[in-house]
Amino acid sequence: MSDLSRPTGPRIIAVANQKGGVGKTTTAINLAAALAETGLRVLVVDLDPQGNASTGLGIEDRDVTTYELLVDDAPLNAVIQETSIPGLSIVPATVDLSSADIELMANEKRSFLLHDALRQTAMDSFAWDYILIDCPPSLNLLTVNAMVAAHSVLVPLQSEFFALEGLSQLMLTIREVRQAANPDLRIEGVVLTMYDKRNNLSQQVEKDARDNLGELVFETRIPRNVRVSEAPSFALPVLSYDPNSLGAIAYRDLAAELLKKHNKIAA
Ligand code: ADP
Ligand code: MG
Repeated sequence: MSDLSRPTGPRIIAVANQKGGVGKTTTAINLAAALAETGLRVLVVDLDPQGNASTGLGIEDRDVTTYELLVDDAPLNAVIQETSIPGLSIVPATVDLSSADIELMANEKRSFLLHDALRQTAMDSFAWDYILIDCPPSLNLLTVNAMVAAHSVLVPLQSEFFALEGLSQLMLTIREVRQAANPDLRIEGVVLTMYDKRNNLSQQVEKDARDNLGELVFETRIPRNVRVSEAPSFALPVLSYDPNSLGAIAYRDLAAELLKKHNKIAA
C-alpha cells in the first residue's frame, strides 16, 4: 500500500442509511475487517445506541464509549479499544448514546462534535488508514455528526422491495450537510446487500439502482449468506468466523474495489 492512497491522513467513511436492517453494521464490521486484513489500520466508530458493531466485534467493557467522546469531551485515545482482529480497533457504544441527541441540542457545535473529536490529533500523524462510522437507522443528529466528520458516505442498499425509496431522503440530507458544514462530502458508493441472484426482486433492485445511480453502485454485491448472520453471535466478523464463506469473500472483494478506487483518485 503506497502512501499515495491517503495523502491527508485517515479516510473517514460514514456507513449510513436511515432504514434499519439493511446491512449497515454488517458492512461496517466486515469491510473494516477486510481492510485490516490487507495490513491497513482501521478504526470503527460505533455511533448507534444499539451498539451492534461493538457486540459484533466482541467488546464487553463499555465504560467509556462514543457517548463520552461526544458529550463529555473524552479524548479519542481514552475511548478506543483493540479488537481480536489485528489492526482493527473500535470506539464502542451503549444505549447511553440514545440521549445524546437531546442533550446536545443546546450545544452550538452539536453537529461538529465527532468531526472535532476525530481531529484531536493532526490528521497526517494519525494512526489510522480508515475510519468507518456505523450510523444509527435515522437521519438524526448522530448521523449528521457522522456526515460532517466524514469524507464520504457509503450506503448499504438491501436488495428488497422499496429499497430505493429512502434514498432520496438520504441524498437530501447529504446535500444539506454539504451546504451547511462539509462541502467536500462525497458519496463513496452504494453497495447491494443481502443479494440473492436467483431472486427476481434482487435483480430488479440491482437494475433500478444501476440505472438510476450508475457508477455510484459498487460492482461487488454482498450475497445473502447465513454465515454472515451467524458471525455476530460469535462476536466475530464473518472474515474470521468463516473466512471462506461467500460473505467473507464478498467483503474482501468490496475492500479491494474500494482500495482500487482510492488509489486511482490519489494517483
Ligand atoms: P443495520 O445495521 O442496517 O440495521 P445489520 O447489519 O444489523 O443492519 O443487518 C440486519 C440483519 O441482517 C442482521 O441480523 C444481520 O446479521 C443480517 N444480515 C446482514 N447482512 C447479511 C447478509 N449478507 N446475509 C445474511 N444476513 C445478513
Ligand atoms: Mg446497525
